[in-house]
Amino acid sequence: MSDRPPSVDSLAQSLAGSGLPHALLVDAARAAIAAGDPAGAAGRAEALQRSLLRPVINATGVLLHTNLGRAPLGIAPTGPPDAPARYSNLEFDTEGGIRGDRHAHAGTLLARLCGAEAALVVNNCAAAVTLVLGALAAGRGVAVSRGELVEIGGGFRVPEIVAQSGARLVEVGTTNRTRREDYARAVETADVALCLRVHQSNYRIVGFTEAPSVRDLATVGVPLVADIGSGLLDEACQWLAGGPPAWLRGEPAARQTLAAGAGLVTFSGDKLLGGPQAGIIAGRAELVARCARHPLARAFRAGGMVLAALQSVALTYLHRRGDDIPFWRMATRTVAELRHRAEALGVGEVCSLSATTGGGTLPGVEIPSAGIALDGARAAGGGRGAGVAGQRTYLDLRTVDPADDDALADAARRASAAPGDR
Ligand SMILES: *Cc1c(COP(=O)(O)O)cnc(C)c1O
Repeated sequence: MSDRPPSVDSLAQSLAGSGLPHALLVDAARAAIAAGDPAGAAGRAEALQRSLLRPVINATGVLLHTNLGRAPLGIAPTGPPDAPARYSNLEFDTEGGIRGDRHAHAGTLLARLCGAEAALVVNNCAAAVTLVLGALAAGRGVAVSRGELVEIGGGFRVPEIVAQSGARLVEVGTTNRTRREDYARAVETADVALCLRVHQSNYRIVGFTEAPSVRDLATVGVPLVADIGSGLLDEACQWLAGGPPAWLRGEPAARQTLAAGAGLVTFSGDKLLGGPQAGIIAGRAELVARCARHPLARAFRAGGMVLAALQSVALTYLHRRGDDIPFWRMATRTVAELRHRAEALGVGEVCSLSATTGGGTLPGVEIPSAGIALDGARAAGGGRGAGVAGQRTYLDLRTVDPADDDALADAARRASAAPGDR
């Protein structure tokens, strides 16, 4: 009698303190009872809660951590439950009282920021490239240097994207050296609709290398599309009081690439742009309009929440308040400031570290940083990803918001007190 299991409902009720919706607690309770372990229901509910989108502390020193959502955002991944209900003018022209265009908000601001005539926002940069090729080159050739037939990560492989879009890949040049004449010859002989330049976002070819400048490539007679990837808007970084940081040198920017003659640029919203996941197509109005008319534009379009977040990021750039964009704020803190915070944590040993931008950007580039070292190879705060090297664990403060310092110090203290992993 005493070992009769509790009812699913009463067990679920007992977990209400977790804040999870009742239906999910019922699932956890049911699964625990079915497994003959009603006492394990609370653990199951906790595991479920941990699996939901929520804020985490990133002490890896990787600014754009792919596993942690790349660019940090100033909004909680799960919105506040008590936020007022609001509609938006996503596709409504409040001036004319007619149907509007969802690209009129964030798209217009982003175009303005990179000196483009127009811009279109889609789901991510992979979608942006696919759409551009499908709209401008289906059934025709796309000239790409053999040195740029790359895989960007997460399955974005240039030859496969070209094939998928219905265009024909025309390989030009060699792995290490490609010249303007290589493209020009392809344009003369192979019904090429456009030249595609793919930025070496996550790898470098060094040594005996050559590639034409954007300016040269823009004169071979067909539009040049530059997939710059990272979303650096302008080399001059007017949004940073201190101007462009040294570690950014050489990274292609949207404004300068378009000014040099590219017809279109494509880039991600959540890399150096510092916004939500999105893909931006910016450049000549006529080319952007052809992309917007293609059926894939409808399939790839960004949703209202993404466009709202992107608009807020674009406005922040226009206000030149780079410090209000979490990625730029974190990326530009001085090492002295980070050291000061590391000392204030009062745990571990303060040390110099090297942060990276990560997320498939700026390969090999290190940003001087600081944090603390703990003895033992540990996963601090129950999470993974802190830098473990040999028998030490490093927590980099560059990627930690100061508001989380106390929580990080607590986690570090707990980890130090516990026996380390071996
Ligand atoms: C990152 C990257 C992509 C893919 O961007 P997503 O937004 O992740 O789809 C494509 N091209 C280049 C050059 C990139 O750096």
